[in-house]
Parts: sequence; structure tokens; C-alpha cells
Amino acid sequence: MSQKISKPVTDEESRPFWEGLNNKELLIQQCGSCGENIFYPRSICPYCFSEEIQWRKVTGNGKIYSYTVVHQAFGPYKEEVPFVVGIVELDEGVRMMTRIIGDREQIEVDKEVTVLFEQIDDDFTLPYFQLV
Ligand SMILES: [Zn+2]
Repeated sequence: MSQKISKPVTDEESRPFWEGLNNKELLIQQCGSCGENIFYPRSICPYCFSEEIQWRKVTGNGKIYSYTVVHQAFGPYKEEVPFVVGIVELDEGVRMMTRIIGDREQIEVDKEVTVLFEQIDDDFTLPYFQLV
């Protein structure tokens, strides 16, 4: 890889998420007031506007909601094409955009996937998903 992937900006809302990934844990938020699961991280519940947001560890199991095959990319991803980017719906109901790893012939909507932790460098890990 000739260029490094730029790291995400970590703020108060998202820090536990990124720290969790470095510890090989996938964390999402849950509202302590209405019980809804929340992703991406934020400080106020988007369902009931409560500030009682808690973090919870999830299994990282889910299914493919949507995906696309990337044939052209720029920067650090240029040499990795073709690759699959998709939206995974976790068992907890939240959806996250991610890289999907595996045999492209096998990748389909609704197929089960599980998280894998792709360590990019010493303090930066991304959640990718692979077919179960
Ligand atoms: Zn709520």
C-alpha cells in the first residue's frame, strides 16, 4: 500500500467505538430510556431525544442488507480493487457501512456475516465483515 488510510476523527461521542475496535470488541449504543439500539455514535437518542445513552458490546453477527463491488478507487484503496463495500444489518437492528470480505461469488443480500477486526496500524482498527 503506497498511501496510508487517513484515520477517522475521534470525538467524545465516537471514542468508545474506536477504542472497542482496538480491543477486538464491536460496541454500539443503546438508549437507556426507550431501549432502541443506535449506530452511528451520538450523544442524544434519535428516537426519543434522551441523553441516557449507554454502550453495549454486540456479537457482530448480522446479514448483508446491500452491497456493491468497487472496481475503481483512489488513494490507498486503489491497489485493492475489486473489493466489496456493503451495508450490514446487525442482529441488533442497526446498519453499518463496511468492507465485506470473502468469495465474491458467494456474497449476496441476506447472507449471514460476522465481524472481523482489521488492524490497520497500532491504534487503528476497522470492522470488516466476512461470510459465516
Ligand atoms: Zn431513546
